[in-house]
Amino acid sequence: MKKFLALIIVAVTVTGCQTNPVTGRSQVMIFSEETAIAQSKEAYSRMLKPLADKGKVNNDAEVLARVETITSRIVAQAVKYRPESENWNWSIRVIDDPETVNAWCMAGGRMAIYTGLIEKLDATDDEIAQVMGHEISHALLGHTVERMSRAVLIQAGIIAVAVTQESDTVVQGAALAAVVALQLPNSRTAEAEADVVGIELAAKAGYDPRAAETLWKKMAEESGAGESRFDFLSTHPAPVKRMETLRELAPKMMVYYEDAAPRPTYAINTSPPAP
Ligand SMILES: [Zn+2]
Repeated sequence: MKKFLALIIVAVTVTGCQTNPVTGRSQVMIFSEETAIAQSKEAYSRMLKPLADKGKVNNDAEVLARVETITSRIVAQAVKYRPESENWNWSIRVIDDPETVNAWCMAGGRMAIYTGLIEKLDATDDEIAQVMGHEISHALLGHTVERMSRAVLIQAGIIAVAVTQESDTVVQGAALAAVVALQLPNSRTAEAEADVVGIELAAKAGYDPRAAETLWKKMAEESGAGESRFDFLSTHPAPVKRMETLRELAPKMMVYYEDAAPRPTYAINTSPPAP
């Protein structure tokens, strides 16, 4: 354990605080964003492969095309905020799971949306755009790396066993952390940042900012019914205040939404993961 803690301290000293280029906020990260992106790729395959084997990935061309259109427009806006993210592996998968209400975007731009979110909420394009704009913002603003850093600390006990054998286990642990991070709630600061940037990205992509409020309202109303798993709410705590803030933000975003200029798209990858 001592050796592990020493490694963590070294890692924090090496990478230290990083200032996010979009928000300007200083973030403590155990590893670099590059490491987080590389490890997220591995975590992504680990998560998607079993689902693909069961035929649960991208099996409805119509739903895939709909989600792909929405996300490709939002990503085209996102890369303007961080030009280097043009080199990320922006991709989207639709997971056929009508009972799970969830969506995510890993560090590096790999995204997924569960059919439960679309079906249970009877989500409009504008509402899907709010979900994905919010998730893309988390990746863009480095929140995923922050959550992975927290996940590593949570798993300290597990990793400490292995760290005595491998000196680079902190990095190896990052792949596992990328999976755990998807299940951790975001901090309030991160949520507030992703709300502001997400609604703006969606508006610039041509999606109605007023849908942010209706989305969360539906989320709150539907979560009480049935046996469905609203994983999205466990990772995105949604106090009433969030809806109020989004309602106040919407009018300021209307100028972007009403802009009649053509909305660029970004070619994102929708091929199923390799077996
Ligand atoms: Zn969030």
